[in-house]
Amino acid sequence: MQQTTFRQLFDYDTWTYTFLLGDPASGEAILIDPVQGKIDRDLRLLKELELELVYALDTHVHADHITGAGLLREKTGCRTGISHHAGIGCADIPLHENDIIRFGSHEIRVVETPGHTDTCLSYLFDDMAFTGDALFIRGCGRTDFQSGDAGRLYDSIHEKLFVLPDHTKVYPGHDYRGMTVSTMGEEKRFNPRLTLSRTAFVELMANLDLPDPKHMHEAIPANLACGESDA
Ligand code: FE
Repeated sequence: MQQTTFRQLFDYDTWTYTFLLGDPASGEAILIDPVQGKIDRDLRLLKELELELVYALDTHVHADHITGAGLLREKTGCRTGISHHAGIGCADIPLHENDIIRFGSHEIRVVETPGHTDTCLSYLFDDMAFTGDALFIRGCGRTDFQSGDAGRLYDSIHEKLFVLPDHTKVYPGHDYRGMTVSTMGEEKRFNPRLTLSRTAFVELMANLDLPDPKHMHEAIPANLACGESDA
């Protein structure tokens, strides 16, 4: 049986989850949504687990934290990946719908789930979906900046994520209430936003009136440069 190493890591400054997936047989690993200020933690963990980082992937151009992808590339020689819609020249791999990313004998599939931003990707692996800021546990990403579009987000979640088997585990990019994992079946039944009609969802998202993320004005330009300049 194939073994997988899996770790869910958290940045309590920006409430961001980073995920480590590793293949102990080959020693290859990937990180999803590394945070720049947390890469020493991530590098130490990789070393302890005797894993070599082959990819640092972002689910989208983040507005609330600076990606660790660029610095991880400098330190490990890994390759970085982000949606081709981001148009980021410094990224090694511009990712497209249905692209496959390999680490060891494992494969991750890329699914485009725009709406929070137009660069949002979800990564599918085994019975896990890393949904970034599209689908949260009992919530979803905001849609009021960075080409956000509530109708598009609703369609992405219903057409790309809720069609996965009900037991598929949902690992979001953030959680603000102490939740760590859910399932598609749970979210289909209990997500208070996604159980609304499309019209009611769009209306709700238009009236959230949220403050800007505290690091937004440093984070977006830094992320368009792969997070390689310290903001
Ligand atoms: Fe985001």
